[in-house]
Amino acid sequence: MSHLPSSDPAGYLDDLLVRFRPLTDGSINGASEALGDTEPERFGVALATVDGQVFGASDDGVQFAIQSISKPFLYGLALDLFGREKVHAKVAVEPTTEAFNSLTELEEDHLPYNPMINSGAIAISAMLHHADPDSASATMMAMLGRYMGREATRHPRAVDDVSGAHRNLAIAHLLRHFEVIGDDIVGSMKLYNRQCTATANVRELALMAATLANGGEHPVTDERAIRRDHVGDVLTLMFTCGMYDTSGSWAYTVGLPAKSGVGGGILAVVPGRMGLAVYSPRLDSHGHSVRAVAALRAWSADWNLAMFRL
Ligand code: GLN
Repeated sequence: MSHLPSSDPAGYLDDLLVRFRPLTDGSINGASEALGDTEPERFGVALATVDGQVFGASDDGVQFAIQSISKPFLYGLALDLFGREKVHAKVAVEPTTEAFNSLTELEEDHLPYNPMINSGAIAISAMLHHADPDSASATMMAMLGRYMGREATRHPRAVDDVSGAHRNLAIAHLLRHFEVIGDDIVGSMKLYNRQCTATANVRELALMAATLANGGEHPVTDERAIRRDHVGDVLTLMFTCGMYDTSGSWAYTVGLPAKSGVGGGILAVVPGRMGLAVYSPRLDSHGHSVRAVAALRAWSADWNLAMFRL
């Protein structure tokens, strides 16, 4: 139990649910509605330690689309395949004050600010796709599966047609215009869409976070998901950019590398110790689960997990 600050982690998770279930602010995202995931009361919490203990409560078995939670993992895959220099010729490492699906900064600077927002993740997807159009999707799903500790699956209602993703297509076209990505915009967008519609439950999200906390090795299967020397890159970008335009206040209040997705999940990494995950689908105006933000804030404070608070 050495990694756990609580002698009763299961009881603590139950307590979190009781404290934050009354929060009913926010609304379900259109991407979840399109997948038929429209149950606003869902609420799941989980934690996984680097030595393989997993605890979960309430809706911890519900599969949902990971959406942008895929972004740090795809970034890690690109680092492993292409190296830092090539990846960062296509995407910078600066936090942004714009929304995750903004085109503004791209228009101004011609390079995505970071890999945690749509423009950066689309640039990474295009790199992967153009390097190997036939097997990029299988390579990506295999990578996600190594973090989850099972074969990665897609949402049963996900489709490969990206013709209606107008905003993301606009980002992709701007990226093509500035010669950040290659010609096959539809192929690149399909890969981006596939990573977003991979599914996990919160227990698996906690294990994905715990794999990063554990230097890239899955705590239960012992499989390596990412090169050890790239884990720090991923965690740094999650810390500075993972919560988009609220990354600063997140760093100040929660103090952990994290990533959210519009499916309603947020995962957070306690380096060297554990991964935490919360799922509830109602979102605030930044695209973060309202209950997950509140629960992770309390959790970090209660267990004194923030990285710079000694
Ligand atoms: N699929 C979503 C999109 O591209 C993912 C965004 C998110 O989770 N923040 O808009």
